[in-house]
Amino acid sequence: MDDVTTTVNAYAALSATEPLQKITIERRDLGPHDVLIDIAYAGICHSDIHTVRGEWGEIAYPQVVGHEIVGFVSATGSDVSKHAVGDRVGVGCMVNSCGECKNCLAGEEQYCQKGNIQTYTGVDPADGSITQGGYSEKVVVNEDFVLRVPEALDFAAAAPLLCAGITTYSPLHHWNAGPGKKVAVVGLGGLGHMAVKIAHAMGAEVTVLSQTLSKQEDGLKLGADHYYATSDPATFETLQNEFDLIINTVSAPLDLDAYLSTLDLNGAMVNVGAPPEALPIHVFTLFAGRRTFAGSSIGGIRETQEMLDFCAEHGIVPETELISVDQVNEAYERVLKSDVRYRFVIDIATLA
Ligand SMILES: [Zn+2]
Ligand SMILES: [Zn+2]
Repeated sequence: MDDVTTTVNAYAALSATEPLQKITIERRDLGPHDVLIDIAYAGICHSDIHTVRGEWGEIAYPQVVGHEIVGFVSATGSDVSKHAVGDRVGVGCMVNSCGECKNCLAGEEQYCQKGNIQTYTGVDPADGSITQGGYSEKVVVNEDFVLRVPEALDFAAAAPLLCAGITTYSPLHHWNAGPGKKVAVVGLGGLGHMAVKIAHAMGAEVTVLSQTLSKQEDGLKLGADHYYATSDPATFETLQNEFDLIINTVSAPLDLDAYLSTLDLNGAMVNVGAPPEALPIHVFTLFAGRRTFAGSSIGGIRETQEMLDFCAEHGIVPETELISVDQVNEAYERVLKSDVRYRFVIDIATLA
């Protein structure tokens, strides 16, 4: 497979304002440590939409997004030892990192001090090109950034684990969600529904804090023990000093002091969703109960593998709606209206 640049179909943004459309892109030659993956499914993450629309900064077009990728290894570089042709594999939000800094050496590549290489819009250290994501037929990735997807996981439904799964697993794991711990999940969308499933499987007592009670039945089915509407002021009075951990998945501004006041002694509120604007906090709210206000970004490769294995062991996959590639633009509009339960997954076979 040396020196064979591969041309593949992809579904790309050509500008910030046009609908995505089918194009072809080139995938680089396989380096000694690269694997070629025939992509089977790609999840649609809210980040994909922000990115193609230039809402997180200017990007170069055409740009292919998608960082919830599963597929089969179809070729391997000469020195690849971790994966073999035919393996079920996944790729998440990053495809490389410096490998030398303190954080990379600790297995926390997502916090690489030189910045990890994102699966899309990154600069590929292999050839200097802009990385192109999973809405495409094939991708070439360094073996160290390729995950094993256990057979027990439904393949299409597993795709969103590579972003939504690890983004919620990592803080739940780091802040010790488990038996005897009370965990609140703010927002029941793509991230929130995974946080509920994973926290429940870890043995924590799980509460959903949602604007209204419209998804209450769903939330309880997904594994929540309690469900409260945050539009009801009584909710915050009832829940004073209640939680050990809050996972905030909402990317709209919140009254942070109100949420922080629901934390118990030594409790932490961890943000995995982020509004673009700065938000005010009264530090006095943190003094009361030695509370922590924190953030968390995806997870390292070792931890992502651990998450996939955990989900296989506990029979957890995201709730998904499978779509063909020509439904992607419509799906984007539905994501923006929160009209999806809970993640769209693209059947990449429809790109052929
Ligand atoms: Zn994502
Ligand atoms: Zn690094």
